[in-house]
Amino acid sequence: MPQKPRIVVLTGAGISAESGLKTFRDSDGLWENHDVTEVASPEGWAANAELVQRFYNDRRAQLAEVAPNAAHHFLAELESQYDVQIITQNIDDLHERAGSTQVLHLHGELTKAESVGNPKYVKDIGYNRIEMGEKCPDGHQIRPHVVWFGEPVIAMDEAIRRTATADIFWVIGTSLQVYPAAGLSNYAPKGTPMVLVDPNAHPYQQYADYTLFINKAVRAVPDLRVWLDKHFNEQPS
Ligand code: NAD
Repeated sequence: MPQKPRIVVLTGAGISAESGLKTFRDSDGLWENHDVTEVASPEGWAANAELVQRFYNDRRAQLAEVAPNAAHHFLAELESQYDVQIITQNIDDLHERAGSTQVLHLHGELTKAESVGNPKYVKDIGYNRIEMGEKCPDGHQIRPHVVWFGEPVIAMDEAIRRTATADIFWVIGTSLQVYPAAGLSNYAPKGTPMVLVDPNAHPYQQYADYTLFINKAVRAVPDLRVWLDKHFNEQPS
């Protein structure tokens, strides 16, 4: 059986916006009314771990209340015809809940906890809270399994490997301002067709290599379908 064409999709907070989860660039650099360094940096944790735990406890509770939208579902449905590799900056689980089976989280997952002292310890916690004083078996406090600014993006090597074998590269709902994820397209094979979906994108130099759909993710789904059909029908057989 011929291999399915590989679509690598880099997603960011924008794809989950229509599910009711706020992005932070759209709110003047604030994430749910917090400065990101306050809630998403090792310095923030050192300054006020209680506040950081509360922030992610609230995000987790909110996540339990929302549902995947038509854009998440569309990507999941494409698996019947394509090898869809999702590389997400999101810490929510909406791709998985929509049914996507190949999801690589660059910045961690809200539904997991890790140890502050043992990088190998990661545990599923679902939508439950983490309390200060809650320890892993080796006695360290547990914290959200989220990559904060200044921390290494361990999944990046795997993301590069997957991108290097892309037949198509899509970017949906990310401001492409957070590195190293923003540089991922550089690893796609030369000439890979690239598409970017973002209601606030401008046809700047940065996007010169992309076909742009300046639209919200859910509303861009029909355009993406047409683009795919056209792309594959125009390929020589
Ligand atoms: P970002 O907030 O920097 O950028 C979001 C982008 O989405 C913007 O360019 C915006 O124009 C676009 N956008 C807004 N509404 C959209 C829609 N309906 N459809 C498509 N695009 C839309 O987010 P980022 O680039 O993902 O980087 C932010 C970091 O913040 C990530 O590391 C992530 O971990 C974290 N974050 C995650 C979530 C989440 O998991 N849902 C939410 C907020 C922030």
